[in-house]
Amino acid sequence: MTAQTTSPTTTRNAPAGHVPAYAAPAASAPLERTTVPRRPVGEHDVLIDIKYAGICHSDIHQARDGWGEGIFPMVPGHEIAGVVAEVGPGVTKFRVGDRVGVGCMVDSCRTCDACRAGLEQYCVKGNVQTYNALDKSGEPTYGGYSRQIVVDEAFTLRIPDGLSLDVAAPLLCAGITTYSPLAHWNAGPGKKVAIVGLGGLGHMAVKIAHAMGAEVTVLSQTLRKKDDGLRLGADHYYATGDDATFEQLAGAFDLIVSTVSAPLPFDRYLGLLKTDGALVNVGAPEEPVSLNVFSLMLQRKTLAGSAIGGIAETQEMLDFCAAHGLGAEIELIGADRINEAYERILASDVRYRFVIDAATI
Ligand SMILES: [Zn+2]
Ligand SMILES: [Zn+2]
Repeated sequence: MTAQTTSPTTTRNAPAGHVPAYAAPAASAPLERTTVPRRPVGEHDVLIDIKYAGICHSDIHQARDGWGEGIFPMVPGHEIAGVVAEVGPGVTKFRVGDRVGVGCMVDSCRTCDACRAGLEQYCVKGNVQTYNALDKSGEPTYGGYSRQIVVDEAFTLRIPDGLSLDVAAPLLCAGITTYSPLAHWNAGPGKKVAIVGLGGLGHMAVKIAHAMGAEVTVLSQTLRKKDDGLRLGADHYYATGDDATFEQLAGAFDLIVSTVSAPLPFDRYLGLLKTDGALVNVGAPEEPVSLNVFSLMLQRKTLAGSAIGGIAETQEMLDFCAAHGLGAEIELIGADRINEAYERILASDVRYRFVIDAATI
């Protein structure tokens, strides 16, 4: 082994090649401090000292095995921001000391049409998720609730100097998940965009759509967070619990991005679109939903879904957010409060993203 292919630095009392982490030992068990193995730094790998890790709602789903087939112990975390500590001999994009991020995926086949088009998230063979997955060598992947991670440079993002690492971390999932559909469906000047839900995803959607130049409306169950919504960049704010909203806003929007996982009454929401409008889902209900297809046909409307974004687009999003001074609204916590944070997220008691200070792991 050369100096460039040493194992991750051992810290605290972690065995060689292991790093401290917080893991769910089994489905629905509280997360606890442990250590997990990281592979030696390979030819094209970077070793990242993780500084901050965001807590995404999907971390809770997976740690509690809500989607089934979880791999335990599980170290969640796919909103990772840190600093490069070591690079493999073939690395060209990064140097030691660079500020970097890692999002929801750490590899893909790299040869299919989707991968070659920069749409690695839609790799036909399935991308390798940052945690709760098996990598190409068959080893489990462990996520960002950890002190260090080893990632191929091709799936590592550069965090521009203008962005603080703590508020940048949530951009790696919440930021790109909302940026990608807003960009794809052309949110911008002259476009009326509605964001359904003002949570971790929704608050970034509002900031980004506003920065893109669109006229932004928040559709939330109540007016409880109206002041926040307007402060974050929304022009209008309506309560969907009020039936009058659906009459008042009929045919109003070019694009609606739904960030909620509760099943929406799609026919009602599609009624809010203009001709050729699109309703895009980035939050997923667990159960199938119903739809009257006439809601689409009569005004040539689109009902769509979108998942994160490709690597190039994720870099574009980070650069866009830095240029516009956009970070997430965060509550920084120590790792000993992860389980408490999970409960608060489930109770919708967070404005708007918990971020773990990795120094406390
Ligand atoms: Zn996420
Ligand atoms: Zn592929």
